[in-house]
Amino acid sequence: MRIISIICSMILLTMSEYAHAQNPIVQNLLNDVRLDSLTNFVKQLSGKKSVVINGVTDTIKSRQYQQPGNEKAFQFMKAEFIRFGYQVDSFQFNASGKNLLAIKTGYKYPNKRFMLGAHYDNWPLTSVAPGADDNASGTSTVLEAGRVFANYSFPYTIVFVLWDEEEPGLLGSIAYVPTIGSNSETLMGYVNVDMLGWDGNNDSVADINVRPVANSYTLRDKAVLCNTAYNLQLNLHVVDPGNGSTDHAPFWNNGHSAIGIDEEYDNDFNPFWHTPADSLAQFNVSFYQKCSKLAYATIAEFALDTVNTVGIKESKLENGFQIYPNPFSEQIIIRSEKHNEPIESVALFDCTGNIIFEKRIDNLATTVFMPATLHEGIYFIKVFTSDHSFVKKIIRQ
Ligand SMILES: [Zn+2]
Repeated sequence: MRIISIICSMILLTMSEYAHAQNPIVQNLLNDVRLDSLTNFVKQLSGKKSVVINGVTDTIKSRQYQQPGNEKAFQFMKAEFIRFGYQVDSFQFNASGKNLLAIKTGYKYPNKRFMLGAHYDNWPLTSVAPGADDNASGTSTVLEAGRVFANYSFPYTIVFVLWDEEEPGLLGSIAYVPTIGSNSETLMGYVNVDMLGWDGNNDSVADINVRPVANSYTLRDKAVLCNTAYNLQLNLHVVDPGNGSTDHAPFWNNGHSAIGIDEEYDNDFNPFWHTPADSLAQFNVSFYQKCSKLAYATIAEFALDTVNTVGIKESKLENGFQIYPNPFSEQIIIRSEKHNEPIESVALFDCTGNIIFEKRIDNLATTVFMPATLHEGIYFIKVFTSDHSFVKKIIRQ
């Protein structure tokens, strides 16, 4: 059992992952989530209920990118986020494609962002296509997050993003992700939701898609902890390497920390997927609400935690090794990109040169769990390979 320490309002709490404490703010936030609000958004996005767009009552019959409902959905969602009090932004990436971003600026780290996202376009190419599970479910999870999170303040910035043109090939996220960082903002972590409504065998299995990129495993671990701490009663199925066919994939491909929370793709796939019969009637609404809450708890825990370091992007060292995150808190990942040069051992020294530990590795990549007793400050990590050794300064925060 791994011991995790969390600094919380000057009190040092040490707890096992099976006794992860609830954050009362996150619990309050989860209590504000309403199933009728989630399903109302699904009804509006899937044409089961009319919407008012620019003062005109209308129905979104399909959100497929060539259908008029795609733009109607964009305008509807934009107006909802404005109604909740957000600053909104659009990201046009081609003649028909437009992502929607709603921004809640952090009071302490305005340039450090957590993102929660879903694609709003759907399939198939018919004039009526509700696309309720794929992906009015995820889109509504993001809209409900907008409604609920509006009443809370966070030290970190949270961005709610709705991607367009996922179905023809993740076009919206592929266009956007490489622009992250161009305005001096740092992406701390991304949570994607794509299809949360189907649980055909009522086993409460939800997938956490993850890959060993940047601190994606830290996001996965947080989601697993939140499921227990907030008693969400999902059976989480970690898929590693995670599914590459939705909008979390461009984040991994650009070196960012990301996970995808979804219904069980492997063994219980929605048989109505990409058909005109993909409707709210097939939802397991209790499962749907639990998956939404899991995404909210994961994002909120990070965005409230003033000491987390999850968002450090992978950086390449010139000698072919990566060491991240730096600053670190609980663990550090060391990876050799030289396939003929595995890491033989690792040693940690304090700033006076005293050795704290040495560890045999014999692998191309390793996660080094740091002693929970390690104080904040500067340390030196020495990495030995069969050919040479090098030292890097790392900071415990
Ligand atoms: Zn989808």
